[in-house]
Amino acid sequence: MPIYEYQCKICGKITSALIFKSHEESQVKCHACKSNDLKRVLSRVVLHQTESQRLSEFDTKTPRDDSFYKDSRNVGLWAKKRAKELGADLGPEFDNVVEKARTGKILDDI
Ligand SMILES: [Zn+2]
Repeated sequence: MPIYEYQCKICGKITSALIFKSHEESQVKCHACKSNDLKRVLSRVVLHQTESQRLSEFDTKTPRDDSFYKDSRNVGLWAKKRAKELGADLGPEFDNVVEKARTGKILDDI
C-alpha cells in the first residue's frame, strides 16, 4: 500500500496519507491546518529535512565522501556546525555566502 507524504503549501508541515486510488489524493488535507493545498514529496528523510535537522544530525568528526557534497544543500553545513559548536556567530553575511555557494552564484563574484 503506498504511503505518500505531502507538504502543506500553507504551513509547510508534512502529512502522510495512505492512497489507494489516485482520486483520493485530492482529498488529502494537512493534519496541522486542514488546508488541501498540498504537494507530494518523495521522502521526508532524504529530501525534506530542514536545515536545523541537518545541522543537528551532522557530525563534523565523520569524514564525508564526495557524494555528500554533491548535494548542494550540504555545502556550508560543516562550517555552520563547527561555528555552532564553537559558539561563534558567523552573522547573516555567512548565510549569504553559503547560499551563493549552494546555488553556484558564488562563481559570479570571483
Ligand atoms: Zn498546513
